[in-house]
Amino acid sequence: MFAIGDVSGQPLLAHRAMKQGVVAAEVISGDRSAAFDPAAIPNCVYTDPEVATVAFPKKRRRRKATKFASATFPLAASGRARTMNDTDGLIKLVGDAKSDALLGMHIVAPQAESLIGEGVMALELGATLEDIGLSIHPHPTLTEGIMDAAEAAHGKAIHIVNQKPKTPVAAK
Ligand SMILES: Cc1cc2nc3c(=O)[nH]c(=O)nc-3n(C[C@H](O)[C@H](O)[C@H](O)COP(=O)(O)OP(=O)(O)OC[C@H]3O[C@@H](n4cnc5c(N)ncnc54)[C@H](O)[C@@H]3O)c2cc1C
Repeated sequence: MFAIGDVSGQPLLAHRAMKQGVVAAEVISGDRSAAFDPAAIPNCVYTDPEVATVAFPKKRRRRKATKFASATFPLAASGRARTMNDTDGLIKLVGDAKSDALLGMHIVAPQAESLIGEGVMALELGATLEDIGLSIHPHPTLTEGIMDAAEAAHGKAIHIVNQKPKTPVAAK
């Protein structure tokens, strides 16, 4: 017996259901390598500004991180947001203070629901904040703010004033 979608549990989201459906079809057709094991599932709220978030599920996070580091890039410092006259919002990255691995990305911005795809990919590939900061993003774009936030996490931001490194927050 196979079950996909909302009936199989949280989070109740269409993109989760679709991927589960594909995997179920593959398993039924004999593909023994098929498995539904996403690193993280994005969540979007279609408000103005839009809100999008993706993070490792708590279970994985506890095993991987004991202390968190985070950095926030305000959209008001984004050249593209300024040309769009739409500067309300922020991009926040949360990482493992020890390994530097990305643990979560939270975006309040125009097109946040599209921008969050970068966070999903980074989590699936096990990217670090340094990886994201070193990836050259096109200018001027909103996606550039993700790189800026990652740079800020290491005190290397060039579009905002770098904050003094905060004491990493212990995992709950
Ligand atoms: C108002 C609203 C807005 C949403 N917006 C979003 C969004 O923006 N993004 C997002 O990712 N998710 C959104 N969701 C959630 C998303 O719709 C669900 O997670 C997704 O549809 C789950 O897919 P599913 O196949 O499990 O169930 P469904 O899409 O509900 O499909 C179940 C199907 O089974 C049929 N069915 C039920 N009982 C029987 C029966 N006894 N016999 C035969 N057929 C039956 C139903 O008629 C239905 O067609 C929203 C949900 C709601 C209610």
